[in-house]
Amino acid sequence: MIPAAVRRELEDRLGDRIRFDVPMSRYTSLRVGGPADAMATPSDRGDLAELLRVCARHGLSHTVLGSGFNTLVLDGGLDGVVIRLSKWRRLEERPGGRVRAEAGCSHSQVTRFCLQRGFTGLEFGAGIPGTVGGWVRMNAGIGSRELRHVVADVEVMSPTGRQRRRIPARDLHFRYRSLRGLAPGSIVLSTLLAVDQSDPEQVKRRVDQLLSQRQATQPLDVPSCGSVFKNPPGDHAGRLIEAAGLKGHRAGGAEISSVHANFIANLDGARAADVLDLIRHAQCVVAAKSGIWLEPEVHVMGRNP
Ligand SMILES: Cc1cc2nc3c(=O)[nH]c(=O)nc-3n(C[C@H](O)[C@H](O)[C@H](O)COP(=O)(O)OP(=O)(O)OC[C@H]3O[C@@H](n4cnc5c(N)ncnc54)[C@H](O)[C@@H]3O)c2cc1C
Repeated sequence: MIPAAVRRELEDRLGDRIRFDVPMSRYTSLRVGGPADAMATPSDRGDLAELLRVCARHGLSHTVLGSGFNTLVLDGGLDGVVIRLSKWRRLEERPGGRVRAEAGCSHSQVTRFCLQRGFTGLEFGAGIPGTVGGWVRMNAGIGSRELRHVVADVEVMSPTGRQRRRIPARDLHFRYRSLRGLAPGSIVLSTLLAVDQSDPEQVKRRVDQLLSQRQATQPLDVPSCGSVFKNPPGDHAGRLIEAAGLKGHRAGGAEISSVHANFIANLDGARAADVLDLIRHAQCVVAAKSGIWLEPEVHVMGRNP
């Protein structure tokens, strides 16, 4: 709960860019999750810094959210302020084969931008839904190709809004589906991507090929968060879950997808608790059968009711 005086201060400073008691099921691709105390959509860097300063002054926590394609918010909702940079969608060509993309740019916007110019390097991202901020934080990728291979720098704001800096790629610590080393609560504002010039037709063919592979192998017509677990070294989480006989296993309205075992689908008004049940069940059964403990890729946040 945000105290009434702090609520008023936030309203005075942000106007209609802040709302209260916002259901997170509308902002996550799994379509589950209780309300956030507040949700802010700052218009620019100054606005964001001011918001962070107010949060720091009053001890309010904040959480950044992209498009919520890799996030499971629990049914009790989220404390503090959820920050969305959904209006930050500037995408600019820079000299020397570089593209600067703001954190709120969507995957389809970036793919289209590169396609139109025949830029190659980012095709692997075709069909990985989300925002540039989420891509950076997750080091999104497929197979051996990940965002870190194209990042030249990342522009970050400190959790209190007092500092803003560009961190060159050599000082970033990307790992499989994560970026380590940023202070908790830091906010990715933009990234500089290194691309090469290529034949636009060739880039388009590769993008189309990746998109149709996804159509054929993933349950894209139901709410999900993509791969729930990270692949353990030398194996695939989906293969282990399928081998454990869990494809199609249900809890409430959620199901371990019968199309792709590393997906959990919200088939019928699932709650976050149903999804969490399936996550725990899959971890325990797979561990019992194979000795491997699956690590979630999805970020679980919020409070239990
Ligand atoms: C159908 C489907 C297929 C998918 N396929 C793939 C795939 O092939 N490869 C893959 O890697 N992923 C895949 N995903 C997962 C997802 O698309 C990626 O993880 C993507 O990067 C999430 O972006 P987002 O903006 O939705 O992040 P969110 O879910 O909103 O956030 C993810 C994390 O990043 C943090 N974050 C978001 N924005 C910022 C910011 N500006 N600053 C700091 N932190 C931030 C959040 O706090 C959270 O911890 C898939 C998901 C779906 C639904």
